[in-house]
Amino acid sequence: MAYKHLLVAVDLTEESPHVIQQACELANLYQAKVSLINILEPVSLAFGGDIPMDLSTLQQEQLQNARERLDFYIADYPSLTSEHCYLCYGQPRQEIHRIAQENGCDLIVVGSHGRHGLALLLGSTTKDLLQNAPCDILAIALHQKDKND
Ligand code: AMP
Repeated sequence: MAYKHLLVAVDLTEESPHVIQQACELANLYQAKVSLINILEPVSLAFGGDIPMDLSTLQQEQLQNARERLDFYIADYPSLTSEHCYLCYGQPRQEIHRIAQENGCDLIVVGSHGRHGLALLLGSTTKDLLQNAPCDILAIALHQKDKND
């Protein structure tokens, strides 16, 4: 089966370039398009509703950092373009499935783990993505030293 459009989901950790690299190599084999996505967890969720503080500056910074990181990847990998790069707020599974469906992606590529933010509390994004997946999911194995964590 030849995949036509890959969606690479990255959590912007230091492991993301490896996931992107693997996805781009696969895309080259299939001559497929590659889209990139990152989902931001709303800052208000991370801090809870109890702390009376203005979170808009933090949210702006979070957004800007994520944009810069994604731009950096786009500059590094010729298969990526800003036109096919998505930065969304919400729940990773819902948003990644939605963007995959809306754009006719036939393979979602993720790392085997990410370990940041709410994922620490809520469990594995990769496992979560398998539920009602709109297309195939490929999990790229990450560092050996972390496998038994
Ligand atoms: P996790 O299961 O949460 O440890 O993360 C596994 C993989 O899911 C990561 O390596 C990423 O490929 C993807 N992922 C996790 N969180 C996000 C996110 N916020 N946005 C996009 N992809 C994510």
